[in-house]
Amino acid sequence: MADISIQFPDGKSKDFPAGTTPADVAKSISISLAKKAVAAKLDGKLVDYLTPLAGDGAIEIVTKDSAEGLSVLRNTTAALLRIALKKQFPAIRLGEVSADEDGFFVDTDKDDQQVSVDELDALSVIVEKLVSDKLAIERTSLPKADALALVKDDPYSTDLINAVDGDAVSFLKIGDYQVLSDGAQLANTGDVKKFKLLSVAGAYWQGKSSNPMLQRIYGTAFYKQADLDADLAKRQEARERDHRVIGNQLDLFFVDPKVGAGLPYWMPNGATIRRTIERYIIDKEVANGYQHVYTPVLANLDLYKQSGHWAHYREDMFPPMDMGDGEQLELRPMNCPSHIQIYNHHIRSYRELPLRIAELGMMHRYEKSGALSGLQRVREMTLNDGHTFVAPEQIQDEFKSILDLMVKVYRDFDIKDYTFRLSYRDPKNTEKYFDDDEMWNNAQTMLKGAMDDLGLPYVEAEGEAAFYGPKLDVQTKTALGNEETLSTIQLDFMLPERFDLHYIGADGEEHRPVMIHRGLVSTMERFTAYLTEIYKGAFPTWLAPKQVTIIPVSEEKHGAYADKLAAELKAADVRVNVDKRGEKMGYLIRDAQTHKIPYTLVVGEDEMANGTVSVRKYGEDDSQSMSSDAFVKEILADIASYSRE
Ligand code: ATP
Ligand code: ZN
Repeated sequence: MADISIQFPDGKSKDFPAGTTPADVAKSISISLAKKAVAAKLDGKLVDYLTPLAGDGAIEIVTKDSAEGLSVLRNTTAALLRIALKKQFPAIRLGEVSADEDGFFVDTDKDDQQVSVDELDALSVIVEKLVSDKLAIERTSLPKADALALVKDDPYSTDLINAVDGDAVSFLKIGDYQVLSDGAQLANTGDVKKFKLLSVAGAYWQGKSSNPMLQRIYGTAFYKQADLDADLAKRQEARERDHRVIGNQLDLFFVDPKVGAGLPYWMPNGATIRRTIERYIIDKEVANGYQHVYTPVLANLDLYKQSGHWAHYREDMFPPMDMGDGEQLELRPMNCPSHIQIYNHHIRSYRELPLRIAELGMMHRYEKSGALSGLQRVREMTLNDGHTFVAPEQIQDEFKSILDLMVKVYRDFDIKDYTFRLSYRDPKNTEKYFDDDEMWNNAQTMLKGAMDDLGLPYVEAEGEAAFYGPKLDVQTKTALGNEETLSTIQLDFMLPERFDLHYIGADGEEHRPVMIHRGLVSTMERFTAYLTEIYKGAFPTWLAPKQVTIIPVSEEKHGAYADKLAAELKAADVRVNVDKRGEKMGYLIRDAQTHKIPYTLVVGEDEMANGTVSVRKYGEDDSQSMSSDAFVKEILADIASYSRE
C-alpha cells in the first residue's frame, strides 16, 4: 500500500507507511506529547488514537488538557454507560449519545419504568468495573445488514444505523460487547479516570415533540479528580442559583405545561417582587420624562402587516384569531405599533420631542418549546418598554440619556456583571430585514459612533439586529451559563416611514421623526429570573416578598406584643407577618432563614418588658437587641437604600 502524506501544524509534511496511527505520529514528534495524547484531528475531524489513519491529511494531536481531549474521554464514558445500561436492563433501547465540553448524555427508553436517578449508582458501579478491567477498545466495522440484525429490537438504534452513509457501520469492541458508536474514542477503558452520572431528564427522540419522550441520562468525566470536584462544585452552585429551583423553594411562580408551556403563574411572593419592580421602574421613568400609557394586547392583524411584523417576524407570532366576520385579531409580539398609534393620535410639534412613550406592555411570542425556561424565556411576557420619538439631530443625546438612565437603574438593583453588544443585521441574509442598505449602514455607524464617544467597550454581532434596525444589547449570564439579553436600545428609521409619522418643525413644515425602542429592565419575567439568580433568592429588603417575620416565644404571652409591632410595621408599609405556628423556636428561625427573609424578630418576656426586639438579619448568626422604634427606623432606611452595598 502506498504511503500516506501527513502535514503538521507548522506546515511541514512527512510520509508515513499505510497503517500508521496517530499514536505513531505523536511518538515521532515527541515522547512527552505522546504521553499526553488521547486522539488526533485529521483535517479537522476527531479520530481515534490507535485506529490507523484513513489517508493523507493535516494532523493535529489532541491532548488530555484540551476541550477535545475531554470530549473523547466523555464519548468513551458514554459508550461504557451504554454497556452498563444493557447489562442492567437487557431490554433497554438506546437513542442518541452526545459528548462535549459540558459533559455527555445517553438517551434511553425502558417503556413504563424509565431509568430513575436512584438507579444511577448501580450503573456507576458497572462502569467502574469496566474501567478497572482495563479492556482494550477496538474499532470494528459491520455491514449495515449485520448491524441492523444486532439491534433488531431497538427502533432508535435502527434509525441511527439507517441514517449512516454507505454500508459500513462503525462499532466498538470492548471486551465481549459491541457498541454502536461514532466519534473518537480512548484506546482502553482504563483511561477513563474520574466520572459522575449526574441526572435524568425527559427528552424527545431527536428533539421533536411529536416523537416519544425518552429518558436522557447526563454525566460528566475528567482526567483528574480535582477537575471533577471543581466541576461538581460549579454545577451545585448553578443549581443553587437557578431561578427555577429558587422559584419553587420561595414559592414565586410556576409553569404547568398542562395549562400552557411558557405561560407562568405568579404566586403572591413572586407577584410582590414584580409589583415592586413595576412601581420602581414606572416612577423612575415618569421622573425622567416618560409618559406612561396602557394599550391593548390584541389588535387587528393589519396593524402588524403595516409594521412589517407579519412579513419579518411571523415565526415568533401566535396565529391570528379569525373572528368569523372577516376580521383577524392578533396577539401582539411587540408594543411598538401600539405606541405609534399613541404618537399619531395628535399632531406633534418639534417642541414635544424627544417624546417618550412607555408602558409595561404585555406581549406574546411563540418561542420554541425547547427554548422555554422558567421565567427566563416565556411565551407571555410584560416588557418594560419605551419608544422615544426624536428629531434626527437628537439621536445621539437621547441614546446617551437612555444609557445613563439604564446604568443608574442597574446600580439600584446591584447589577454589575454585564457586557455591551452591538447587534447588526446579517449581511448574508438581508431578506430577514427591512430592505434599505443605506439606512442600515447609517444606523449601524451611528450606534458604533455613540458607543465610541462614550468610551464604552462592546462586541459586535452580526445577525442579532431587530428586523427594523440595529441595537445595543446588554448581555448577562444565566445561572446555567447561557448568555441572554437583559436591556436593549434600538434605532429605527423604518417604522416612522411605514406609519408615515410626522412632526411640525420650527420651519412650520412636516418632518419625519426617528424612533428609539428601549427596554431598560427587560420583561418582568426575565428580569425577575435574573434578579433571583444574582441574589440567590436573598432579595434585598426593598424587593423581598416578606421583609420581616416576628416570632413570639409564646403565642399566649407575647402574641399581642408581636401583633402590635406588626401593626406598626405594616402602617409604615413594611411587609411583615407574625409566625404563630407554635413550632419550636429553633425550627421557626431556621425556616425564616430558609425563606431568606431579611429580618427575623424574636420577642419574649424581656423584649415585651423593655419595648425591644431581638433582631436577626438574614445570613447572620447573631441577633441584636434594640428598641422597637430603632428597628423601624433601621428597616425603613434599609428599604429606602435600594442597593445592598
Ligand atoms: P431574544 O434575543 O432574547 O429572543 P429579542 O432580541 O427577540 O430577544 P426584543 O424584541 O428586543 O427581544 O425584546 C426586548 C427584551 O425582551 C429582550 O431584550 C429580552 O430581555 C426580553 N425578552 C425577549 N424575549 C423574551 C422571552 N421569550 N421571555 C422573556 N423575556 C424576553
Ligand atoms: Zn419597540
